[in-house]
Amino acid sequence: MSKANDPSLRSWVEVAAGSDFPIQNLPFGIFKTQSSSPRVGVAIGDQVLDLAILNKLGYLDDLKIDNSVFTNQYLNDFIALGKQTTNALRERISHLLNVNTSDLRDNKEARVKVLQYISNVQMQMPVKVGDYTDFYSSIDHATNVGTMFRDPNNALLPNWKHLPVGYHGRASSITISGTNFHRPKGQTKPNENEPPVFGPCRLLDFELETAFIIGKSTQLGESITTDNADEHIFGMVLFNDWSARDIQTWEYVPLGPFLAKNFASTVSPWVVTLEALEPFRVPGYKQDPKVLSYLEYSGDKNIDIHLDVFIQPEGGEETLVSHSNYKFMYWTMEQQLAHHTVNGCNMNIGDMLASGTISGPTPDSFGSMLEITWRGTKPVKMKDGSERKFINDNDSVIIRGYCEKNGVRIGFGESRSKALPAL
Ligand code: CA
Repeated sequence: MSKANDPSLRSWVEVAAGSDFPIQNLPFGIFKTQSSSPRVGVAIGDQVLDLAILNKLGYLDDLKIDNSVFTNQYLNDFIALGKQTTNALRERISHLLNVNTSDLRDNKEARVKVLQYISNVQMQMPVKVGDYTDFYSSIDHATNVGTMFRDPNNALLPNWKHLPVGYHGRASSITISGTNFHRPKGQTKPNENEPPVFGPCRLLDFELETAFIIGKSTQLGESITTDNADEHIFGMVLFNDWSARDIQTWEYVPLGPFLAKNFASTVSPWVVTLEALEPFRVPGYKQDPKVLSYLEYSGDKNIDIHLDVFIQPEGGEETLVSHSNYKFMYWTMEQQLAHHTVNGCNMNIGDMLASGTISGPTPDSFGSMLEITWRGTKPVKMKDGSERKFINDNDSVIIRGYCEKNGVRIGFGESRSKALPAL
């Protein structure tokens, strides 16, 4: 386990109790200010460490990283340096920010140049996403949806426990937290015996998900195994897979999701490295029947990540509508990646692979309004007294996530976006 994960580490940078970004986390992101172009930063407490300036000032000299990697609008080139370098950098930053290391701590002139408050910067999409895949790997979610739309006695389709089901989505509409979007319009069929109609989506929903980012490419024809999958996973973000349920219901047969999904997806800005998440690994879901050998894995491959979803009406208070956990996933990231590449499909740095809606076993842990309100039959009470079956115009949906153990909290920050009225 990395030295940077030691729970006893403290930083000379102030980190408030309950902060998502203690010295044990050190997630990477892209930020810009009014006066500077986009660059690579690391979150510490409520501040961001500017790696371009840190490198320029000589604090990273022996790592020999070309500064163009840091003065960049995406993390892709940085990630492409490989884990040996990016992990060494994480260790170096951990050392520099350590309360007992004086180099930067006692150099006020440098400190002012390399640190600024996150509230004063604008976060950007962390990676250029080439390809995006969405899985369907929560057994409680798949069971809920199967129960609602097909057959409660055979909720899971025959393939579900044998392979991590997924589809290829669209990368162009994946946006950074804070990017609002207009309620999509499209074709729906509200009445079974009448022709379809065109208009604004009436059943707008969120999907609570996480996504992992590919950190090491493969060649066409090459497969990743569950054993070496972690070498290919750079880190994770929170992911809201916005969904138009009425469009989805009409369009998805027989090829799966299309326009019900590609109008907006919202990611959190800080990429939490797989290394920072290692202390929070837990045993995977017990898989029965036994999976095919290429999907077998050893060790604890699930992760204990608390996930909360809030709805905030315009000008109103946030209401918690779901408290779920990544550990409820049936298929692990390692299995998803092994399955995705078993046919020789090549992966590129920056590709994003989302989990699928993460629902837990109880109604308060369901990961979409479809499930929480059971197709709108059990509306959710908001703090302002109003009710929600799905998402209203000008509602913001906020996803937050964090791991917590031994007094260390490794957080993801948030994914936040608002559904504006249809154009
Ligand atoms: Ca999804």
